[in-house]
Amino acid sequence: MQAEWDKITAHLPPSARVVVLTGAGVSEESGIPTFRDPQTGLWAQYDPMVLATAEAFARDPKLVWDWYEWRREARRNVQPNAGHRALAELAQNIPQFVLVTQNIDGLHRLAGSPEVIELHGNLQRNKCSRENVVIDRARARPTENGLLACPNCGALLRPDVVWFGEMLPREALSCAIGEAERCDVFFSVGTSAVVEPAASLPRLAKQYGAFLVEINPRETPISGMADATVHGKSGEVLPELMRQWRLRWLKQSGPGE
Ligand code: NAD
Repeated sequence: MQAEWDKITAHLPPSARVVVLTGAGVSEESGIPTFRDPQTGLWAQYDPMVLATAEAFARDPKLVWDWYEWRREARRNVQPNAGHRALAELAQNIPQFVLVTQNIDGLHRLAGSPEVIELHGNLQRNKCSRENVVIDRARARPTENGLLACPNCGALLRPDVVWFGEMLPREALSCAIGEAERCDVFFSVGTSAVVEPAASLPRLAKQYGAFLVEINPRETPISGMADATVHGKSGEVLPELMRQWRLRWLKQSGPGE
């Protein structure tokens, strides 16, 4: 394993351009369930792939809204884990570091990551389902059945997240694509690498010459093309990455005597 770490850290001088793409797996150790690992608890009987769609919201807005309210409540009760914190620390040490996430939980920011490209929106925000503009909860009009309506047009509010089959925020996606094409090293962490277009980012980076690293307890469709792989939980692997990085790149900077 040390040989793998040496290979990875050798590609990570402080001057490197680094992109890290994260998925639901990085928040698993904070207690937020992923989509494709076995579900537990109250909502175990519902398939996220069925609930997280515009069609589901049109069919049964209350069911979808309640599911997101449950996820919001779950999110309020958890904290960033050691993996989120290690990425925030790496960002402080590598100036050209870009964090791209598919997660909607906001835990990277809470852990101190200064800039995060959120490809799939943010769980805490709502938007008008007709006008597509973000509406502050305090301005929303409550409806009779416990939902919220837009103060401007009266349409229902929905979470400001990207549902299956919807377009990603244009600016966030084009920024992520540009960074993937330019980077020296691309990390794919805690993502099943099957949800497009995010799943194409590691492939694109590799195609443009980046060194591709995957961190995941399981194999994914991109495992075969990775230049280095660390099988494990991101809450353990990322702090170890940071430790290895410090050993290689900070060992020269002693007290200066
Ligand atoms: P996914 O559920 O498809 O896959 C999760 C991946 O994480 C799997 O490959 C799994 O092996 C890996 N994993 C599980 N535990 C891990 C750990 N401790 N450390 C590292 N990896 C671990 O998730 P995805 O690829 O992100 O894509 C699905 C969609 O799910 C995205 O659109 C995302 O918005 C949404 N989602 C987000 C959250 C969140 O915000 N926390 C939670 C669930 C789903």
